[in-house]
Amino acid sequence: MSLSKQQIQTLVGLIAATESDDLSCEDCFGRIGEFAEKSLEGRELSEGMQLIQRHLEQCPCCSEEYKALIEALQEINVEQV
Ligand SMILES: [Zn+2]
Repeated sequence: MSLSKQQIQTLVGLIAATESDDLSCEDCFGRIGEFAEKSLEGRELSEGMQLIQRHLEQCPCCSEEYKALIEALQEINVEQV
């Protein structure tokens, strides 16, 4: 199945709309630290944290930030042990 230009534009529009419906990057950045800690600890994610997770899956910019944060946190953990 190949998509017409029109269909692609509709899809892109849908994705953009989903993103604005969800968390903004600002909201995400505000809670990304909490999310990183919880996911490192392997804790169950609350609804709010699941929103972050969803945003990270959609947003390359925030997921980069998240990766850097996880690395930093892991380094801290290694130092503590
Ligand atoms: Zn974002």
